[in-house]
Amino acid sequence: MKKGFLLSVFILVIFVSCKKDKDAKINIFPVSKDKELGAQMDAFINSDTSGMVVLSESQYPQSYARLKHIRDYILASGKLKYKDDFPWKVTIIRDDTTLNAFATPGGYMYVYTGLIKYLDTEDHLAGVMGHEMAHADRRHGTSQMSKQYGVETLFSLVLGQNPGMLGQLTEGLLTLKFSRNDEAEADDYSVQYLCQNPAEYEADGAAGFFEKLMASGSGSSTPAFLSTHPSDQSRVENITNKANSLGCDVNAHNPEGFKAMKAELGF
Ligand SMILES: [Zn+2]
Repeated sequence: MKKGFLLSVFILVIFVSCKKDKDAKINIFPVSKDKELGAQMDAFINSDTSGMVVLSESQYPQSYARLKHIRDYILASGKLKYKDDFPWKVTIIRDDTTLNAFATPGGYMYVYTGLIKYLDTEDHLAGVMGHEMAHADRRHGTSQMSKQYGVETLFSLVLGQNPGMLGQLTEGLLTLKFSRNDEAEADDYSVQYLCQNPAEYEADGAAGFFEKLMASGSGSSTPAFLSTHPSDQSRVENITNKANSLGCDVNAHNPEGFKAMKAELGF
C-alpha cells in the first residue's frame, strides 16, 4: 500500500514536471492568426511609413528566382508543419549596409541586400533562410511576442484596432530576441530542411554563415543579425554535428546562381 502510494507520488511528480516544461512551449495565440498577423506586418513593411525599401520582383527577376528556389527546396523537405498553410512570401529589402534577414509570424520572409552582398555562397544564404523559416514554422515569433507584449496586443493588431502598435511591433521584429531553445531549434531545423538527397545545398550552411559573422563581429560594429543571434563556436559545432549525425551532404553547391543574383543587385 505504502509502496503504491509512493509510486503514485513519483508518477505525479514526473507528470507535473513534464507538464511544466510543456506549458512553457504552449503558444496561446491561435495558429490561424499567425498568418493574419504576418499579412498585416507585410502590408506595413510595403507601405511608405515603414521606411523600408522593398525591391520589386519585376526589376530583380533573377534574385527573386534564386530566393524562391531556395524556399521551394526547403519546403520540399517535407519537414515544415505549415508548408501548405503559410504563404512563404519572400521579399528583398534594399539596404546594402544592414546585414540581416527576418521572418514575420505566418511565413513572410525578408532578406536584406546587405546580407546577400556579405555572403560568399548561396549555401550560406540557404542556411539563414532555413533558420528564419524554422522560426516561422515553429511559431517562435508569436510565442515570444505574446510573452513580451501580451496576447491581447497581438489580437488587437490582427483586428486592425492598433495601427500605431503594428509599426512598433514590426520594427521590433528586427531586434526581437528569441530564447536560446528557440534559436537552437531553428538551427537544428535549418539542417534538417537542407539535408536532402540529391543535395543542392550544404546541410550545415548556417554554420558557415555564423562562422563568418563571428569573424566580422569582432570588429567595431556588430552586424544586426549577430546582435539578435549571439554566436560562439559551440553554436557552429552544434549545427555541423547535427548535419554529420544525420549523414547529410556538407559539400558546397550552387555557386553560379548566387553570382547571378549578386550581379543583378549590383555587387
Ligand atoms: Zn534566430
